[in-house]
Amino acid sequence: MRILLTGGAGFIGSHLLQRLLRERVAEQVVTLDSLTYAGNRSRIAFAQGDPSHRFVHGDLTDEALLEELFATYDFDLVLHLAAETHVDRSLEDPRPFLRSNVLGVSALLESARRAWQGASPARRFLHVSTDEVYGEVPAGRPPVAEGAPYAPRNPYAASKAAGDHLVRAAMESHGFPAILTHATNNYGSGQHAEKFLPRLMRKAARGENLPVYGEGRERRCWLAVEDHCEALLTIAQGGRVGSAYHIAGDDEWSNRELASEVLRMMRALVPEAEGAELEFVENRPGHDARYALDDSRLRKELGWRPKVKFEDGLRRMARAVLRGRADWIREDEKRRGGPPAK
Ligand code: NAD
Repeated sequence: MRILLTGGAGFIGSHLLQRLLRERVAEQVVTLDSLTYAGNRSRIAFAQGDPSHRFVHGDLTDEALLEELFATYDFDLVLHLAAETHVDRSLEDPRPFLRSNVLGVSALLESARRAWQGASPARRFLHVSTDEVYGEVPAGRPPVAEGAPYAPRNPYAASKAAGDHLVRAAMESHGFPAILTHATNNYGSGQHAEKFLPRLMRKAARGENLPVYGEGRERRCWLAVEDHCEALLTIAQGGRVGSAYHIAGDDEWSNRELASEVLRMMRALVPEAEGAELEFVENRPGHDARYALDDSRLRKELGWRPKVKFEDGLRRMARAVLRGRADWIREDEKRRGGPPAK
């Protein structure tokens, strides 16, 4: 098998690459990543020197590069994870989101479609999407199943929804062999510091207050990144082409409950966290009250179950954040102090 993995220098992509290489899933894995602010090659330092892996620094929208890669490697499987992913940034400026999550998807789809014309039907394109495309699921309503109508409410979610629609259109009009996946919030080591859990953990480790939007009533389901990667590989290998799978896990928390849990855990790990408290800050515009996915199809059809116990996964993540403390404190200081004098 020859695999193209996009976004492999990002949070989830780097975990997925680790599994692909560790388990020797493929004879060749090519990671394509443009190394935006969110991508970091140090996440995939483990891949250096592995002859079955090649890193390509390039952009999804570079059609000539895509064409060359498909011609050179004749991929059987595309694992498409590259995207702009931070909701707050999309509220400030949606343009990079449209570029990567819509135009990027279109370029990748078209390249795969052209390269795979007349090829064996065993090819697959796994398009990794999010629970946010469905919009909010009010408290008391059952989790949404595959096929529910889309109702994105922030620019990130809208751009991911547009990408999903392009994939569906390719499946409908050209019989393109794709599978869509929608996952809930991931957590784990190596997540970018701007995301909810790493931000809270770093704040607590510095004895600073933990910012929580609004009153912290918004509810999210949490999925260990290792469980997500396991689901993606299970679906890539055994999922039904032309359909979608939800990946949810079992852990639904309000942001307030979760921030309190993080604080409790950090206080047990570092003395600095004793001085920290929750601090409620102005809510994010259009902050969805709740996301909730029904993933029983994946469990029934493919036998997937989340394996990581939330408390264990969270503690492992907190320990990883603390291990990197000297580095990120140095980076924070540099940022706060502005660029060094010339
Ligand atoms: P991330 O922001 O950590 O990483 C994204 C990676 O994509 C980065 O390495 C970045 O450099 C790369 N990238 C962005 N635009 C690119 C472009 N135009 N060309 C090439 N590379 C580009 O994201 P993540 O949290 O690892 O998420 C991965 C995927 O999973 C995304 O598609 C996201 O929508 C989806 N997802 C994430 C979560 C979550 O909780 N993190 C939940 C559900 C779905």
